[in-house]
Amino acid sequence: DIVTIRRALISVHDKTGLLDFARFLAGRGVEILSTGGTARLLRDNGVAVVDVSDHTGFPEILDGRVKTLVPQIHGGLLGRRGDDKHVAQMAEHGIAPIDLLISNLYPFEATVAKGASHEETVEEIDIGGPALTRAAAKNHEDVAVVTDPGQLAALQAEIEAQGGTSLATRKRLAAAAFARTAAYDTAISTWFAEKLEQDFPPRLAMAGVLRQTLRYGENPHQQAAFYTDGSNRPGIATAQQVQGKELSFNNLNDTDAAFECVAEFDKPAIVIVKHANPCGVSEGESLAQAWDLALRCDPVSAFGGIIAANRVLDAAAAEKISAIFTEVVVAPDADEAAKAIFARKKNLRLLLTGGLPDPATMGRVIRSVSGGFLAQSRDAGRVSADSLKVVTKRAPTEQEMADLIFAFRVAKHVKSNAIVYAKGGSTVGVGAGQMSRVDSARIAAWKSAEAAKAAGLEAPLAHGSVVASDAFFPFADGLQAAAAAGATAVIQPGGSMRDNEVIAAADEAGLAMVFTGMRHFRH
Ligand code: 5GP
Repeated sequence: DIVTIRRALISVHDKTGLLDFARFLAGRGVEILSTGGTARLLRDNGVAVVDVSDHTGFPEILDGRVKTLVPQIHGGLLGRRGDDKHVAQMAEHGIAPIDLLISNLYPFEATVAKGASHEETVEEIDIGGPALTRAAAKNHEDVAVVTDPGQLAALQAEIEAQGGTSLATRKRLAAAAFARTAAYDTAISTWFAEKLEQDFPPRLAMAGVLRQTLRYGENPHQQAAFYTDGSNRPGIATAQQVQGKELSFNNLNDTDAAFECVAEFDKPAIVIVKHANPCGVSEGESLAQAWDLALRCDPVSAFGGIIAANRVLDAAAAEKISAIFTEVVVAPDADEAAKAIFARKKNLRLLLTGGLPDPATMGRVIRSVSGGFLAQSRDAGRVSADSLKVVTKRAPTEQEMADLIFAFRVAKHVKSNAIVYAKGGSTVGVGAGQMSRVDSARIAAWKSAEAAKAAGLEAPLAHGSVVASDAFFPFADGLQAAAAAGATAVIQPGGSMRDNEVIAAADEAGLAMVFTGMRHFRH
């Protein structure tokens, strides 16, 4: 899969490192084709070049708007060397293959940044460069494409070592090339959309496909839109809305949180979300049973909530869910009886996804910061019994162990600081989003007492429960609060400077504790 380079096309705006590389190519007998300014630089420095206009017999015209947009060039980049028909057609039309493209684009972003006029900015929209880049990247089977001067050194080393470019390198370069042209077009469309101020949502400015313009954003004075990323994974962006009012920005955000959480569980499970945090999560023998137990955890917060199920919704579950006011119900599917029951609640939005997101899949998470964005892979981490380390004198019982894993999987979906009490496959108290861990622990315990009162029970639900913490307890106080609330076992990542104090406190209270070695911050 090594391609020897016989002919290269060089057309660059940023000429960093170019001379040395061009000399290296010329020294290997490579024919170098080049455009106006690039050709001049190379020639002035003693590198033999052929002007593209001489190669094609067609001059650069329209102030450089048309330099390389001709069949001899694009045919040379796009023709498949292993395809007899392509080879014959190239010969027939006098098209010589080009094995390497070095191209980088007019500095559109820098032109915008320096506050140039509309006309000047438009003139800095490179047309031929992206066309060349995309052609070469598409034909990575035969052609290598350099889009960044930083790629030249490694490419030179590979050519010296192997006599040409490898397929693996050509694929990597092609991926970088498409990322560059995508970012370039994003910069152009963002600039345009921002000039036409009222034009929101930016239809082309996002690296996604506009699915829906939303009535407003997180608040009514914010504009908003909903995009799909093209991955077509089962999830909120591809779900079918079967009935109900139009989905809002907050509905979509909360529904995603609920659905991602419910996908963690194998048994029939229900998650109730409010403001992006689960306020009740339960497994059960059926969805209807899971619903009762999820609702018990925090019936006050559940009002107006978002409900996710990990199974086909049936009539029994639909009856129970539609008995309280609910904004959205999401599930892989619903049977006809369930649909008929939900249809009685005109405003309730029912979303069917056709499947569940795989909690162990990498995926991509993006968040904006001023002037840019942060990207990370999805939190695909999942604990299992054999990855846990018992650190206390007492080891968890089998039931405690099952609940510890359940609670930690829930904690992964609770905003930090997250403290989750669970018992028998159900949450019994959730503390979310506090700035101190001990506050989250106290809130979760207090909520479990409130839930018990609401259910007419004597003892708080947290009595005899287990507790999960999304990150380590920095001090013993959070753990002591959990023990006081009635927890008998603890799961947490471990790794605090004061782990020894925390372990000693657990031993003193007779608690069993396991370390996961894995943290689930969620902000
Ligand atoms: P040069 O300095 O060699 O005259 O021009 C190099 C620049 O022209 C590169 O940034 C390249 O992307 C761009 N370019 C190459 N071919 C074309 C074309 O046909 N039209 C336009 N507008 N730009 C081109």
